[in-house]
Amino acid sequence: MEDISQLNLYMGALCKTLNDNGFRQKLILNGEPRYIDYKLDRLMPDLTVMHITSDVEAFQFLTSKGLIRNDICHFCGEAPIDGRKTFIEPSHKIAFSICNHCYAKGIPPTKIDVRNTGCLVTLFFVTLTIILLRLN
Ligand SMILES: [Zn+2]
Repeated sequence: MEDISQLNLYMGALCKTLNDNGFRQKLILNGEPRYIDYKLDRLMPDLTVMHITSDVEAFQFLTSKGLIRNDICHFCGEAPIDGRKTFIEPSHKIAFSICNHCYAKGIPPTKIDVRNTGCLVTLFFVTLTIILLRLN
């Protein structure tokens, strides 16, 4: 059973901390960088962690403040069974804890229908598209 409300609380707090400390989520829009507030997606909090880990400095800031938990799965909110399973974010090799279930699946659980669910890059661009649609 996924405990997504725990994950929402946790991710919401991380987003607020980043925004309060001057970090902004970077988007590329028509080839130009654009910066927006970090924002929790309540339906897909597992994608919020992907946004945060796409900025090494933001993630390191949270780590330095002791705000990155290792007692929660960053994809579904469950407690990691042995606390040592990690997901390695592909572009910056940032590691964070995930549960055995998500580790076995190799992908974050997601509420959206993506054909190539094994590809986090696809998920990332789907999210970008959603964000861009909301901005317009
Ligand atoms: Zn999980």
